[in-house]
Amino acid sequence: MCGKYIVSKSPKASSVSPVPQATDNGHQPQPIINLDHGDPTMYESYWKEVGQKYSVTIPVFQSLSYFANMKNLCWFLEPKLEEEIKTLHKNVGNAITENRHIIVGTGSSQLILAALYALSDSLNDPNPVSVVSAAPYYSSYPEITDFLRSQLYKWSGDARCFDKDGPYIEMVTSPNNPDGVIRKPVVNRAQGMVVHDLAYYWPQYTAITSPADHDIMLFTVSKCTGHAGSRIGWALVRDENIAKKMVKFIEINTIGVSKEAQLRAANILEIISLSCQKQRPRDLDNFFEHSHQLMAERWKKLRNAVKNNQLFYVPKFPNHYCNFTNEFTETYPGFAWIKCKEGVDCEKLFREHKILTRSGKRFGGDAEYVRISMLSRDEEFDLFVQRLSTIHGTGNQN
Ligand code: PMP
Repeated sequence: MCGKYIVSKSPKASSVSPVPQATDNGHQPQPIINLDHGDPTMYESYWKEVGQKYSVTIPVFQSLSYFANMKNLCWFLEPKLEEEIKTLHKNVGNAITENRHIIVGTGSSQLILAALYALSDSLNDPNPVSVVSAAPYYSSYPEITDFLRSQLYKWSGDARCFDKDGPYIEMVTSPNNPDGVIRKPVVNRAQGMVVHDLAYYWPQYTAITSPADHDIMLFTVSKCTGHAGSRIGWALVRDENIAKKMVKFIEINTIGVSKEAQLRAANILEIISLSCQKQRPRDLDNFFEHSHQLMAERWKKLRNAVKNNQLFYVPKFPNHYCNFTNEFTETYPGFAWIKCKEGVDCEKLFREHKILTRSGKRFGGDAEYVRISMLSRDEEFDLFVQRLSTIHGTGNQN
């Protein structure tokens, strides 16, 4: 179906506002709960437990140079980060790194742009190449694509509606942001180029069913470990010329990527890999087991909160066997893609209850849907489900 995404039947920083002031009648106003952005602060409690023992200190004489490894195609990639990325993918089994170039970026956001540049520049086409993604798509894709009004590429909307001949770039997000669905390309034409955004292909969110093996795969520490503030992402790229162009883009854009951030990220990935080992230190919980359990609990709380409510529909997900945990597991997406009763402007309804969400319209969908971050801190999340369970009004029904 084109222009409307299908809901499978099986299917700004999250924060509570500062301490509210009492009103004239002495009642405390409800604090605003901001679940619009996907700020992954939920892992903070794990990292606090891990504590100071694993902190990173970078001496002042280290990392002065722009360069990290002149022998590497990606000359600004710290060897230690490269090693830890490979080790983590091997431990988790979620992506093939053999015969791939690893390119580090300032978040995977920079790598999305680098990939769009590399793929479109290679075409040598006077017309901008179309960039598409199946709705509901990650709301940043249209913004990232059209922000600079490039002549190389242009946003062309829902991939299911794309009917132009010639080359195109399809963004495939799996599991998908906003709805958590496992995805494949939908256009599937000869001149298509696909970027696989695998930001959420980690065991806390979904079953790891096989190592991903695509031409361009993007990952980020933001959603893997929760260190969004470090701004480190990486691309696994098969084709050398595309990889070179992506490196060139980052060279022109930021002359590489912060060494401090890379070294910190390398250390964090190393801790996670260590935490997955049978012989891990006694004071180190398995990160993925811990975060998977946390996500499962949150989804349970969310479902309970809307159990007797005719107003909201929360999608269900099928069970799959996870090769990492060696058990069947449900998908626990980083976002809840909630549908309100027909005719209800869902974002407006939540706003009336001082819960900020992102409207389905931003994802190429419609106003009956909202995306809600499941990644906020415990106290914010608990406040959210508590308030959700009290909502029975129908906010502006047509
Ligand atoms: N891709 C997807 C699907 C995302 O959800 C996000 C973060 N919201 C990104 C990319 C960008 O992540 P980063 O913080 O690494 O720039």
